[in-house]
Amino acid sequence: MAVNTEAYQSIRKELDENNITLVAVSKTKPVEDILELYELGQRDFGENYVQELVDKQATLPKDIRWHFIGHLQSNKVKYIAPFVHLIHGVDSFKLLKEINKEAAKNNRVIDVLLQVHIAQEETKFGLDEEELKAIYNRNTDGLQELKNVRICGFMGMASFSDDLEKVRGEFKYLKSLFDWYADLPIANSQLNIISMGMSGDYKIAVEERSTMVRIGSLLFGARNYAK
Ligand SMILES: *Cc1c(COP(=O)(O)O)cnc(C)c1O
Repeated sequence: MAVNTEAYQSIRKELDENNITLVAVSKTKPVEDILELYELGQRDFGENYVQELVDKQATLPKDIRWHFIGHLQSNKVKYIAPFVHLIHGVDSFKLLKEINKEAAKNNRVIDVLLQVHIAQEETKFGLDEEELKAIYNRNTDGLQELKNVRICGFMGMASFSDDLEKVRGEFKYLKSLFDWYADLPIANSQLNIISMGMSGDYKIAVEERSTMVRIGSLLFGARNYAK
């Protein structure tokens, strides 16, 4: 009984009013917990680990939209390519190419978000401004050839910090990059998603025009990695 259905209802209401998609982050949590939110109408769930996602997808209802939000290794793309709804953490052209290859094998187009490094902390994954630019500069030399991927937006993780203005500044930065790249006329880049905001900072992300938040512990309780 760890699922906080009251928190779910109130967060859901708040986000619906702002047209923001809620991705319920269920990593390390049992399928029973996922089903509890599913019964309340939740369909978007986020997972960080490939094997865990594959196992859960096999047993849970097929109309769940699975978001892969973790760090994805190229050699594991093939396991999630048949069914994944959106891959949030794409941080290299090599990975884009691999996703394109596996999407083609499955006869589909896979939607992805480019992960941008916005936190001042060193430890977070993501593309810096130069690397982002380099991917878009490949438009005549690779990017437009990837017909089985569609870049749908950007994802970012703010610093884990009590300094709310710092966090706000990082979200503003992501939004400004998004606005800039959203205008580029590139066939397989159609940006309309800004995935930013987690349990601790989603309210700030909403104020800074997030369109998709990824919330775990507020809904499912704290995670226990030791289990
Ligand atoms: C785990 C995780 C979340 C959810 O974190 P909470 O703080 O539990 O809401 C969101 N985004 C990513 C990328 C994550 O790895």
